[in-house]
Amino acid sequence: MEEEMQAPRQYPAAMVNITNRCTLQCKHCFVFREENPNDPQKEMDTETMLRKLSGLQKKHNISTMLWMGGEPLLRPDVLREGATLFERNTVTTNGTLDLIELPNCIYVISLDGPPDVNDAIRGKNCYKKVMKTLSRVPEDFGPTVMCQCVVTRTNEDRLAELVELLRPTRIEGMTFSFYVPTANDESELTWGSLDRRDKAVREAIRLKEKYPAFIWNNHRTLELTLSQYARQVTDDCPSKELVLPLYLDQDEFVSPFCCYGNDVDCGLCGAWVVFYLAAKLEESGIKDWKL
Ligand code: SF4
Ligand code: SF4
Repeated sequence: MEEEMQAPRQYPAAMVNITNRCTLQCKHCFVFREENPNDPQKEMDTETMLRKLSGLQKKHNISTMLWMGGEPLLRPDVLREGATLFERNTVTTNGTLDLIELPNCIYVISLDGPPDVNDAIRGKNCYKKVMKTLSRVPEDFGPTVMCQCVVTRTNEDRLAELVELLRPTRIEGMTFSFYVPTANDESELTWGSLDRRDKAVREAIRLKEKYPAFIWNNHRTLELTLSQYARQVTDDCPSKELVLPLYLDQDEFVSPFCCYGNDVDCGLCGAWVVFYLAAKLEESGIKDWKL
């Protein structure tokens, strides 16, 4: 009874998966492990989705929406209307479809490394397709276009190369996020310990120092990802507090444990958003992550 009377929790941001369909079949994809995700019949229709999202915006006072999939650009109708509901929008895309004009929007294009590394994970010619998409972005395009590279044990030595390749393109800047393993993850992607991940984080810090305007992770965000701080941050995960995850499950949105799913290993989480928020909280004097 008491619980029913409590005001709904406020979330400054949310992330929503608006489709399980995708134009790629990446090796590490958890969406694609589902049975036949490319069946549009199984998806919530646009009108219902927009009604639910508008209700959730009001209920939780959400200002920023992170639009995800699958490939969210497969549902341009949802994006066009949906983006008007929020003050700020971020669309994460695999970059194989043309970007569309949206208000107050940042496009985050995922690339996992230079062409050979990227395509080994994301599929043949994927890198080329992304470059083609970038070449078609109009001069006066409103949204910001950036890239996010998920750093793993397999691409950690190729980050500088990716930066060099992207700097002359239409990409305005990039961030590094570090792989979030599932519990008992034994794939080639994970370092298996925070100590072993530090080499990759230090490389990102080196690149930040070399290309301060192009690498958009701030210095403190990367520093907090180092093993000496990371555990303090993930034990008190700011993303879990501030970002409402909404997964599409046929006719409903369900909220998993966090935006990386239910089966995650928080102890090894290197998600950009977690450390970005941690640095912000420190800046505002709300948290102190000092040793
Ligand atoms: S682009 Fe994203 S959703 Fe699509 S297959 Fe790759 S990881 Fe999965
Ligand atoms: S896995 Fe999820 S809950 Fe755990 S630290 Fe990372 S974002 Fe937070």
